[in-house]
Amino acid sequence: MSFSLYVHIPYCQAKCPYCDFNSYAASAWPEADYTAGLIAEIELRCSEAPFADQSLRTIFFGGGTPSLFAPESIGRILETANRRFGIERDAEITLEANPGTVNHAKLAGLRAAGVNRISFGAQSFDDATLKFLGRIHDAAQTREAAAMAHRAGFDRLNLDLIFAVPGQTLASVISDIEQAAALGPDHISAYNLTFEEGTAFFTDLKRGRIKPLANDDQAAMYAAVREELPRRGYAIYEISNYAQPGCEARHNLTYWRAQTYLGIGAGAHSFALGSAGGGYGRRWWNERNPARYIELASQGGTAEAGAEEINSATGASEFVFLNLRLRAGFELEDFQARFGRTFDEIFGARAEPLIEGGLLTRGNDRIFLSDRGLELADSVFAEFV
Ligand code: SF4
Repeated sequence: MSFSLYVHIPYCQAKCPYCDFNSYAASAWPEADYTAGLIAEIELRCSEAPFADQSLRTIFFGGGTPSLFAPESIGRILETANRRFGIERDAEITLEANPGTVNHAKLAGLRAAGVNRISFGAQSFDDATLKFLGRIHDAAQTREAAAMAHRAGFDRLNLDLIFAVPGQTLASVISDIEQAAALGPDHISAYNLTFEEGTAFFTDLKRGRIKPLANDDQAAMYAAVREELPRRGYAIYEISNYAQPGCEARHNLTYWRAQTYLGIGAGAHSFALGSAGGGYGRRWWNERNPARYIELASQGGTAEAGAEEINSATGASEFVFLNLRLRAGFELEDFQARFGRTFDEIFGARAEPLIEGGLLTRGNDRIFLSDRGLELADSVFAEFV
């Protein structure tokens, strides 16, 4: 048995106006104290069920901007994780990096520390778009960062792109794809810009200072992304994720397949199948404030701020809408093995109209979104909540 570990590092050089992650702009950060908190959390969790007797198959350093931390800090966290849980020999170990925060020495240090996959927040190759998005880097820095990552020995590289940014055209989205693919990543994520409550863009939108692109334009951009990336060798395997064969992000597959993961760090969420009471599963989340997190974690106690037991009915809903994000959907047999009842018994009445309406497809004992379902995914998921 194995599980995935998510490590949240919440500091950024600047807060991007579209970002609703638990991240904070900082010119200096308490790296030693925060690292000590993460290590203390590993020490605490390693003797608890269900992690005590499982090894790690994937680790993901996300944020925030984990590349702000020194390779030595990342190495200490990995060393503790390996000693306490055991990291599998072929584990995928990803670190998110901002192209404006790396140099060759840092990337080489991260590689030597055991990180084997880098995910750059490229977002766009148009400098005006990057400026609008409040990014601290320009397109030239992304090109340089990707080349440095390859030179530092990273065979596995992801580039994140954002489309449907106000002012963007279909041609500029396609140009971003061309330029991203030209850098030779094995994985590309392309996200539709959303305006989340609590972000600066959300306020700008409410006050009429920015205007989202028309829905039709956004849909045309998503269609172009789905056409252009596969043409360049990146097959879609999740609503927003594309990979060369065999290069899917194993860590994120843990989330979409509703499997067990431990999240450590400020505001990190965790999910474990099964619970002490014999129920379906348990979800919990940490204190969000980094200073408070450090205080709680470094005292050796839990940094947990809340938790919920998940019953089988909620678990079945989550299983369906998470797995449906995947292009291959899920096997009906897997559903039955996990919930002890068939998909049709629980969701047949809800799925049938979606299948008839051409949003869901059933074939080869699997259920998955149709091409049209991909475009209207949120309304399909809503049917299973
Ligand atoms: S760099 Fe990433 S995590 Fe930090 S504010 Fe920007 S989008 Fe959010």
